[in-house]
Amino acid sequence: MAYYDYVIIGSGITGLYTALRARKAGSVLIITKGSIQESNTKYAQGGIAAPISRDDSPELHYRDTIAAGAGLCNPVAVRILTEEATDRIAELIKFGVPFDTLNGEIALTKEAAHSLPRVLHAGGDATGLHIENTLIKNARDAGIEVKEYCLVSEIALDAQGAVCGVKTFNCNTGVKAEYECRYVILATGGAGQLYKYTTNSQVVTGDGIALAYQTGAEITDMEFFQFHPTVFYKSGAPLFLITEAVRGEGGVLRNSRGYRFMPDYDKAADLAPRDVVARSIVFEMQKTSSANVYLDVTDLRPSVITTRFPQVYQFCLDQGIDISKEYIPVAPAAHYLMGGVKVNIWGGTNVYGLFAAGETACTGVHGANRLASNSLLEVLVFSKRVVERTKQPRDTVQPKYAYTESPEHRTLKDYQPPIEVPPLTRENIQALMWDKVGIMRDGKTLSEAGRILYAWQKQMPALTDRESYELRSMIMTARMIVEAAVTRQESRGAHYRMDYPKPSDTWQKHIVFKKNSIAQ
Ligand SMILES: Cc1cc2nc3c(=O)[nH]c(=O)nc-3n(C[C@H](O)[C@H](O)[C@H](O)COP(=O)(O)OP(=O)(O)OC[C@H]3O[C@@H](n4cnc5c(N)ncnc54)[C@H](O)[C@@H]3O)c2cc1C
Repeated sequence: MAYYDYVIIGSGITGLYTALRARKAGSVLIITKGSIQESNTKYAQGGIAAPISRDDSPELHYRDTIAAGAGLCNPVAVRILTEEATDRIAELIKFGVPFDTLNGEIALTKEAAHSLPRVLHAGGDATGLHIENTLIKNARDAGIEVKEYCLVSEIALDAQGAVCGVKTFNCNTGVKAEYECRYVILATGGAGQLYKYTTNSQVVTGDGIALAYQTGAEITDMEFFQFHPTVFYKSGAPLFLITEAVRGEGGVLRNSRGYRFMPDYDKAADLAPRDVVARSIVFEMQKTSSANVYLDVTDLRPSVITTRFPQVYQFCLDQGIDISKEYIPVAPAAHYLMGGVKVNIWGGTNVYGLFAAGETACTGVHGANRLASNSLLEVLVFSKRVVERTKQPRDTVQPKYAYTESPEHRTLKDYQPPIEVPPLTRENIQALMWDKVGIMRDGKTLSEAGRILYAWQKQMPALTDRESYELRSMIMTARMIVEAAVTRQESRGAHYRMDYPKPSDTWQKHIVFKKNSIAQ
C-alpha cells in the first residue's frame, strides 16, 4: 500500500497551500473529489483582509474581527490571525498571486464591518480564481501528486487511536483504494450544498466534518452558518455572488419599491455586518411581498464598475442587465460555515495525526459571525501552523482550548413521535435546510427538521456511488447544524431564533459534539 507523510484532502486554497509547505517536510498526496480546480476558493471575489496599510494595524484588525464575532471568537486565535497576516500575504505574492495595484501600491478596498480599507484583491473581483490558479501552477511545478475525482470515505486509525491512513472511492471508476500516512489534513471546505440557495461549489457537501466526527474528532459552533446578503436572483438564472465590495465602493440596497432601507436597520447602513443585512433584506422582502431586493450601483462611474467588478458586470450583462444603468436583483443565500472541526491554534484535533484547516475547521477566529474576507486569510495563517506543528514531537500535538462548552445535548426521545418524511434526496435535504434551518429559525421548525433528518439517516442507501457518500455527509453535517441550533436558545451573530430574538449571557459558550453525542 502506498505510504505518504501527509495525505491532504481537498485542493482549494487550504489543500494546495498546505501541500506547498508540507512538501518540504515529507511526501505529500492531495486527494480531491472533483477536478483540481473545483472548490469554493475559485469563486471567491472580494479578496483577502490583512492590515497592510500605513493607517492600519493588527490591533485594529483584531478589534474588528472580535466585534463581528459577537462574543464567541477565540481571542488567542484572532491575535495570531491578525499578527501573522502580513507575512502570509507576502508569501502569496512570492508564489505569484497578482494582487491589483494603484499608483504602485497594493490596492485595498473596504468591506462591511471593517473600520478601514483592508481587503486585497486580484483581477478586480476574480481574487479566488487567481489564487487557485497560481497555487495549482506552483503545485504542478513542484511535482506534488494529486488524485482527482477521488473522494475520501473514511479516515483509518491504528490500535492506539492515531491516524494511519485513508480509504477512498474513485468517483469515475467506482474503484476503492487505501493509502497509509502519518498525518491527514482535512481541507475539505464547508457545507453550503446543504442549502437550496447557496453560493457554494457542488463539491462542498460537509464531507470533512462528517468524516472527522466519525473518526472521533470534536465538532463545534455548527449553528453559525453565514448567509450572504447579495446573491444575483432572477428566475431561471444561476445563483451568482455579488461581492460585498460592491457596497464597499458605494452600492446601496433598495426594496422593490425603490426605497433605500438599510439606514432604517443599522447605523452602518449598507455596510452593516452580514447577518444584519441578510435579515433586513428578508424583512423587506416580506414587507413588500417580493422574492428579492435590488442592489443599485448606477451612481458609480462605469469605469469603476468594469475595472473593479469585471466578473459581476459581465455576469449581469449575460443575464440581460447592464448594471451601470439598471438595478441588480439580489437575495440572500447560504455562504460560509463558521463552525467545523474543532482545532487548537496549531490546527490539531483531539485525534492524534488528524489536522484540519480552512473552512472545514473551527479555529474560533470567526466566532458567531465571520468578518468579510477573513476566511482566505485564516487559511494561510493556520495552514502554515499545521505544517509547523507536524514537525514537532508527537506529544505536543494535542489541543488546548480556551473556552467554555455547553454540556447540553438532545436524546432519542427528542425525535419522537415519528414524523412523515419526504423521500431522501439531495434536493429534499436542501429544501428542508432552507425552509426550517435558514436565516431565521425557531424551536418548532428546528425540531421538525431534526426528526426528519434522523429518519433519513435510518434510510441511508448503500454506499455505491458519489451521490450516496455525499448524502451520508450531508445528513450527518445537517444533523449537527440542527442539533446545535435547537440547543442554542438565543440569537447571536448568524444564528437568529425568532422564539429567542435576543442574545443571552448564559449562552456565552460553545456547543461541542463529541463521538456519539448525537443520538443515533
Ligand atoms: C462565491 C464565494 C465567494 C467568496 N468570497 C470570499 C472572499 O472574497 N474572501 C474570503 O476570505 N472568502 C471568500 N469566500 C470563502 C472562501 O472562498 C472559502 O472559505 C475558502 O475558499 C475555503 O477554502 P478551502 O480550501 O478550505 O475549501 P474549498 O476551496 O471549498 O475546497 C474544498 C476542497 O475539498 C474537496 N473535497 C471535499 N470533500 C472531499 C472528499 N470527501 N474527498 C476529497 N476531496 C474532498 C473539494 O473537492 C475541494 O477541492 C467565498 C466563498 C464563496 C463560495
